[in-house]
Amino acid sequence: MDYSENIIETIGNTPMVKMNKIVSEIDALVLAKYETFNPGNSVKDRMALQMIKDAEDDGRLKPGGIIIEGTSGNTGMGLALVAIVKGYKVICVISDKQSKEKMDILKAVGCEVHVCPTDVAPGDPRSYYSTAKRLAEETPNSWYVNQYDNPSNTKAHYLTTGPEIWKQTDGKVTHFVVGVGTGGTISGVGKYLKEKNPDIKIWGIDTYGSVFKKYHETGIFDDNEIYPYVTEGIGEDILPKNVNFDIIDGFIKVTDKDAAVYTQKLAKEEGMFLGNSAGTAIKGLLQLKENFSKNDVVVVLFHDHGSRYVGKMYNNEWMKSMGYLDC
Ligand code: PMP
Repeated sequence: MDYSENIIETIGNTPMVKMNKIVSEIDALVLAKYETFNPGNSVKDRMALQMIKDAEDDGRLKPGGIIIEGTSGNTGMGLALVAIVKGYKVICVISDKQSKEKMDILKAVGCEVHVCPTDVAPGDPRSYYSTAKRLAEETPNSWYVNQYDNPSNTKAHYLTTGPEIWKQTDGKVTHFVVGVGTGGTISGVGKYLKEKNPDIKIWGIDTYGSVFKKYHETGIFDDNEIYPYVTEGIGEDILPKNVNFDIIDGFIKVTDKDAAVYTQKLAKEEGMFLGNSAGTAIKGLLQLKENFSKNDVVVVLFHDHGSRYVGKMYNNEWMKSMGYLDC
């Protein structure tokens, strides 16, 4: 018989898939690291597992403990799956711009969900960062995960995602392209790949309304870069400790409209039913095309599944209302 002991054991070892039509203007081989094959349908299962393991090991998380996190949904799902198997309760604090599907999914796996306004500063007591921290202070036997600054987030990708990409490309990867939110994925994979071969280029995909690109280029944290945006999962109005700017070669920004349009294109042209950050990442990769040549192997990572966006990027009424469809 061939089976896993529990759902946690199925995390990781995701497939790598060649991109075809959508990258026809690029000479290089483009491969997608396809993270929706994780049991929670996103890359975040990897870091959820690592963060819980490390917190158990050093006593921050105790038996029967309550896990509290500010999450746009995918981390909450990953934490929930691991918590169910290991016997913990999860409270998720989410901002109101996140899709309804993400909130419903969290409830389906037993999370308690608190919704906070998006358009307030991170330091505002109503923000989801502040609310998560406050709940953790008020709740006995709780542990505040803090995926932004928790080093186990980057570690998960250094220990699993990076080595998988190296192995699946027989060490031939030349570029890694990925959307940046907490920074865990880019920093963990980037560090592993650069240790293997310092010539590998690491590209971060950012969004308009986020601070990363400007900070990387100038070292200035510019408040003028911060304004509300639609793209989900990518970009920040803070500098998370998990973003290791030193291993990143460059950032490129993608508009909300392009991100939404390319999310649809991935489904229709490649049969890849993926989330909004995948549309952002593939459009960013196309914007970077001058950097790729014939013998390059470009790996792009797709974070999450399309089912979480059926009411938005896959709904043409919503697309029209946003001005993202021309007819
Ligand atoms: N895409 C999606 C859908 C996400 O949920 C996240 C996490 N915020 C990211 C991209 C960015 O990944 P990371 O946090 O590892 O930078």
